[in-house]
Amino acid sequence: MTTPPVVPPHLLDRPVAGGLVVPWITPVTAGGVYLFGSLAAASQRQCLHEQRCQICGRPLPDEAVLFARRSDLRLRCTSEPATCPPCAAYSAQACPMLSGARSTYRTATHPALAGTPDDGQRHLRQGAPAERWHAVHVQEYDVIRHPRWPQTLAASWGRIPPVRIDAVPVTG
Ligand SMILES: [Zn+2]
Repeated sequence: MTTPPVVPPHLLDRPVAGGLVVPWITPVTAGGVYLFGSLAAASQRQCLHEQRCQICGRPLPDEAVLFARRSDLRLRCTSEPATCPPCAAYSAQACPMLSGARSTYRTATHPALAGTPDDGQRHLRQGAPAERWHAVHVQEYDVIRHPRWPQTLAASWGRIPPVRIDAVPVTG
């Protein structure tokens, strides 16, 4: 386990677990356990529609970042809501999936999720090999139904071309 990155000033009001900032969108159980890597469906919709950053929860500035796997690039959309650029920079270092520190997705549902309804996201991730991530810089996105999982919303850059797409460096 590497040393967690320094928490940037704009995220100091967020809770921290295991040295990592808990994203605004991360669900928390009644017992106070943060379910990193899970998206709360209601929060996901709120982020997408209200153009909020999924990490700090604040309104997105003029340019935002959508993290995309190769499979997302093909479809030009992702179910992960956008982040503001400062949160994107922090996430690229702090998030074990983005930084490459974890090589595969969790193969089992988090025990705290047992008995909760499927949020429509889990089958997208479970047991799949981790992929390289890309940072898609956009000025706007459209909220669409995911072409493969219509019950899931996604942020799309199909209609509005992105400013640029960078590969996320593997630092983990
Ligand atoms: Zn942010």
